[in-house]
Amino acid sequence: MADATRIPIIAANWKMYKTLPETEQFITEIAPLISQANAKILIAVPFTAIHLAAEKAQGTTLIIGAQNMNDATEGAFTGEVSAKMLRDAGAQFVLLGHSERRQYFGETNDFINRKVKRALAEGLQPLLCIGETREQRDAQETEDTLATQLNECLSDIEPSQIQHIIIAYEPVWAIGTGITATPALAQEAHHFCREYISQQWGPETASRIPLLYGGSVRPETAAQILAQNDIDGLLVGGASLDANSFAAIVNSVDQPVGSDEKH
Ligand code: PEP
Repeated sequence: MADATRIPIIAANWKMYKTLPETEQFITEIAPLISQANAKILIAVPFTAIHLAAEKAQGTTLIIGAQNMNDATEGAFTGEVSAKMLRDAGAQFVLLGHSERRQYFGETNDFINRKVKRALAEGLQPLLCIGETREQRDAQETEDTLATQLNECLSDIEPSQIQHIIIAYEPVWAIGTGITATPALAQEAHHFCREYISQQWGPETASRIPLLYGGSVRPETAAQILAQNDIDGLLVGGASLDANSFAAIVNSVDQPVGSDEKH
């Protein structure tokens, strides 16, 4: 992370894990471990845990959010949850376009774009996930894939609105696989995204937007990834479920690491 104007962000994605007692226990355990953190700490919890988590997070440095939402304001959409409902429950941000939503629930860039717009309109901060599959990387299509996702998911979003968005680059082949992208590879993809954002929305926007890396981050790998110039934080799945391991990742912000491999 080279630009001091961008605050480091460490985000957790709990996926479909944790009951209410488990949520409460996690927050009780982690609060004292991250009280001196040098980062903003976001936790995307299951819908059912938002209210309790937001209540328990009061007085801590934790920011609670959701993992998905519908793009409509309200309506006859059985089983869906609106941005307003998430706000009401205490969510401050929402993950959008996670690869598991794209892969298992058929979410398209167009649908994700509508959700981004709705989230912004309702005052929820979108955390937009993008990333290429193994096949796309092997076919040298990584940059095209990222450009298309950025272009379509952020279609019609003004530079002033882009400031409120967080982007996570998550190579699909690294999510939940135990395979972390090398710091150099992650930096390369982040640099591409920042340049692309600069071309589309201007250098000022590009220099401010937080770009996170996600994909099998562990306490042992966090600091080296965070040391890359265009990486402003992390989105952590599996390793965020345990308070000690997530706290170790949070506390690796600003820890001395080996040299930046690319610069
Ligand atoms: C994720 O789900 O966003 C993620 C990065 O998961 P994991 O850390 O388990 O790969």
